[in-house]
Amino acid sequence: MPRVDAARLESELFEVGRELAAALPSAARNPIAAADGKAMELASQDAELKAALFRFVDVVPACRSLDDLARHLTGFLGEVEAPPPPVAVALRMGNSRAGRTALGAAAAAGVKHMAHRFIVGESPQAALGTLRELWKDGVASSVDLLGEATVTQAEAQRYAVRCDAALEALATAARDWPGRPALERDSAGALPRANLSVKVSALTPLLRPDAPERGKRDAAERLRGLLRRARDLDAHLHIDMESLDSRDAVLELVLELLAEDEFGDGPSAGMVLQAYLRDSPQNLDTVLGWAAGEGAARAHPLTVRLVKGAYWDHEVVEAAQHGWNAPVFEVKADSDRNFEELTRRLLDARPALRVAIASHNLRSIAHAIAYDRLAGGAGADLELQVLRGLGDPLQQAIAELGLRVRTYCPVGDLVAGMAYLVRRLLENTSNDSFLADQAKGIPLEQLLAPPTVAVTPT
Ligand SMILES: Cc1cc2nc3c(=O)[nH]c(=O)nc-3n(C[C@H](O)[C@H](O)[C@H](O)COP(=O)(O)OP(=O)(O)OC[C@H]3O[C@@H](n4cnc5c(N)ncnc54)[C@H](O)[C@@H]3O)c2cc1C
Repeated sequence: MPRVDAARLESELFEVGRELAAALPSAARNPIAAADGKAMELASQDAELKAALFRFVDVVPACRSLDDLARHLTGFLGEVEAPPPPVAVALRMGNSRAGRTALGAAAAAGVKHMAHRFIVGESPQAALGTLRELWKDGVASSVDLLGEATVTQAEAQRYAVRCDAALEALATAARDWPGRPALERDSAGALPRANLSVKVSALTPLLRPDAPERGKRDAAERLRGLLRRARDLDAHLHIDMESLDSRDAVLELVLELLAEDEFGDGPSAGMVLQAYLRDSPQNLDTVLGWAAGEGAARAHPLTVRLVKGAYWDHEVVEAAQHGWNAPVFEVKADSDRNFEELTRRLLDARPALRVAIASHNLRSIAHAIAYDRLAGGAGADLELQVLRGLGDPLQQAIAELGLRVRTYCPVGDLVAGMAYLVRRLLENTSNDSFLADQAKGIPLEQLLAPPTVAVTPT
């Protein structure tokens, strides 16, 4: 039974969308972001150029000199049949050694600039200044330690030690941050200032779909250590969700550990629900059942971060290789519509859960705020989340509306950041991306229009 009339919701959503759009910083005030937007637009219009640039970004960490960088760049760009003028200039520069050195320096600077847009620092210590500035501006954060895929026990242990040290550094620094009531309290109580997002696949090399129990057991000890540490430091620990082959193991692990007696009083913790998965409504049933049962006695309600899902291409290709039906929706509007349905169910489930809606899509965000308002909420029990570098203007607009916004801040070096960077670039230049539509200048009314529901078999 819907608690809110659909037509009223739609009109409130447009109202909120217009408020947010009016609060977005203008591109003119941020020329660097505008230039990045142009570069992304150029790349997204030309599939060959896009593929060449992605291949280049992939090899940058392995390049040993500027000459080497330029050789790779011109090699990849040389495969583009009809290069746009800036690319043709770069190709000509690649013909001489001096030109290659200059081109290599420019390319290295370009990749670094791009990476710094998405990555806040090489280490948690180096990121603290930015995190404090964000907090002062009314924006909370969650830090993510970038790392290579964990294939050995030693790497998993190293990741756990890095997470432990990051929790300590964040909690210590956050004690001196100025008071920001909107970011520190909701009706369930205090919200930790220090917040770390972790990946289970980095805590164990054994997480495999064919033997999930082994991976769970191996990750459990390291995850327990981090939960203890977060509890003792009064920090929040969030467990990210990755591709479907580890989804069930991660969900079970998180719910089992949080139900253990020693974690009854803390820490504040959370998990992720991916709306692009066709079976995500059933997944939410599981989480709600847990919150009403084993989880009900915990001092902190579980935080559920709702996302659409970052592994869409991977899931489609993986399913096709095995001859399976795709586990993800194949029409973007279906993911958007499901995201909205899950948003409403999550908001209705409060106070058993804390809700974080993570998206850069103005409609998805406006929908959550509008539903919260019409359901009688004052905003304190709704958190909005964005990714550093992609959601910066939106984060500013959300903060201006007095709502709680958290930005997900990756930390790590350029090499560790490459996979992350490529995923974000792919997302930003995809034809099915809200941000790409927004960059094309599509009018606000169209950006806020309801997702056209396509009927796809489940
Ligand atoms: C704070 C934060 C934390 C995040 N943490 C995680 C995490 O732990 N795990 C994770 O998987 N992702 C995570 N993400 C990424 C997220 O899943 C999305 O990839 C990203 O936010 C883009 O979605 P959007 O709503 O911003 O943009 P939109 O442009 O509205 O949506 C893009 C998304 O739609 C979906 N999509 C694209 N094409 C199609 C299609 N043809 N058919 C169906 N669906 C399609 C994909 O999920 C794609 O990412 C996080 C995002 C944020 C902001």
